[in-house]
Amino acid sequence: MATQKVTYTSTNVDLDEFHRAFDDALGRLRATLGKTHPLYIGGRAVEGEAGGAPIVDTSPIDTQLVLGTFATAGPGQIDQAVGSARAAQKPWAGRPWPDRLAILRRAAAIIRDRKFDLAATMSLEVGKSRLEAMGDAEESADLIDYYARQVEDAGGFVRPMAQMTPIERNTDVLRPYGVFACVAPFNFPLALSAGMSSAALMTGNAVVYKPAEDTPLTGLGLYEVYRDAGVPAGVFQFVTGRGSRMGDALWKHPGVDGIVFTGSKQVGLRIYQGISERYVKPCLLELGGKNATIVMDSADLDAAAEGVMRSAFSLQNQKCSATSRVYVHQRVAQAFLAALQDKVKTIKMGDPTEKDVYFGPVINARAVTRWEAAVAQARKEGTILAGGDRLTGGVFDKGHFVAPTIATLPLDSSLFLEELFVPLLAVGEVHSLDQAISETNKADYGLTAGLFSRSQAEIDRFFDEIEAGVCYVNKRTGATTGAWPGAQPFTGWKGSGSTGKGGCGPYYVQQFMREQSRTLVEG
Ligand code: NAP
Ligand code: MG
Repeated sequence: MATQKVTYTSTNVDLDEFHRAFDDALGRLRATLGKTHPLYIGGRAVEGEAGGAPIVDTSPIDTQLVLGTFATAGPGQIDQAVGSARAAQKPWAGRPWPDRLAILRRAAAIIRDRKFDLAATMSLEVGKSRLEAMGDAEESADLIDYYARQVEDAGGFVRPMAQMTPIERNTDVLRPYGVFACVAPFNFPLALSAGMSSAALMTGNAVVYKPAEDTPLTGLGLYEVYRDAGVPAGVFQFVTGRGSRMGDALWKHPGVDGIVFTGSKQVGLRIYQGISERYVKPCLLELGGKNATIVMDSADLDAAAEGVMRSAFSLQNQKCSATSRVYVHQRVAQAFLAALQDKVKTIKMGDPTEKDVYFGPVINARAVTRWEAAVAQARKEGTILAGGDRLTGGVFDKGHFVAPTIATLPLDSSLFLEELFVPLLAVGEVHSLDQAISETNKADYGLTAGLFSRSQAEIDRFFDEIEAGVCYVNKRTGATTGAWPGAQPFTGWKGSGSTGKGGCGPYYVQQFMREQSRTLVEG
């Protein structure tokens, strides 16, 4: 089916055809829900831990709707998965790199073939709107192709080096570490899982993959893509379970050579501080954010309001790149907030699998509780300008629905610094760009940042002074969101990442390999 490509910033899609195909996919999906799923280790179905409570995967849109029941891995299954990965890794790494790229590119093509089914799954499992879900599916395929091109452009990372004597031949090669644990978050369950794991695989590593407990069905979809693309048995293991119970056993396993993780700073720091015991292991972390948008008095306020509305409330603020705080110049604060409230009033809330619904539920009951606590704090410390209540009636009574909420707060409120990952936007007034930058940089995080300004001097200063890896100026389609492979490398500074090199960027795949210098003296 040839429909237009949807990205996170798409606005002009042929919607009739898109919605017809999406409806068909939802129908196919609903007919297959509710199955019981094992782990997949060494290419075979494997039972979970005896006595381990399975994961009942429900939809955040309707908590009575069971999408599937998933096995939970215990230490025995983790050991088996790591063992299978170790056995499969050497032959996989021994294949010529163009073979591996061909298989991974086939995976990208299969994702494109199945994009409506995968998007429908994410819409139901995460509560994504149709366009957001399709963006996630399309990005997954683009990530794989982008990384494959990196390996190809580098000639498989084999390069001749200078000779120190006429009789020596020197070669520099990048070689895989071995087995990577790959642990993914719930919010981009396909794109992040596919991005992290495909880079590990194409560079010759084997992977033990754990999806988030809220999104195992999408994770299973990725397993099936790799299987059908021809990734050999054992090279990619699908292991489900609750991170708080089995996560440590996975990355602490002595047979794991490194981890690639996307998720919260809290879990990321725990892994970083714990993984290197006998020696240092690669620990590629992409973590949370507390992303600010700065609105200056020279800004196009309509663009600023639109950009902030989209970045604060698309996917219910559950993007690592979401705008969760705004620093607005006091001269334009009133006008900006009025424009923002007008935009927020137009947001269509509801069941996000329905066409035209923009704003769905948050992921789970814990997120609702976090939102309620933050709203209560905002009421005490400042003023709620919009939202502030749970949504009720009809579909809203079935799932985890809360209103998009805006609060004005004094700058010393902790709501400006903690990642909440729920739709509460904190807004504070500033008197200068310097003050806005200084407030922004107070956070432990440094993922994305946005500026609206018509002053070149301010724009230059923002880029130079802001402590964030992904910076946008005057982006109406999303003040701080919408990064795409090859266009916006997604690098977290400070508490937002560990390596200083991002997914979607040109220095990503090298991180899954270590250098070996080869000198051969002839004669
Ligand atoms: P999370 O709670 O940190 O969970 C992420 C993954 O880690 C899940 O698979 C989770 O399993 C697992 N986990 C939990 N405890 C573990 C442990 N001790 N050892 C190993 N794994 C463990 O994050 P989330 O709520 O799913 O996702 C939201 C967070 O991800 C936010 O902070 C967001 O900013 C961040 N994020 C960052 C980026 C980026 O590119 N920088 C992108 C997307 C999201 P369970 O689900 O089973 O608990
Ligand atoms: Mg769920």
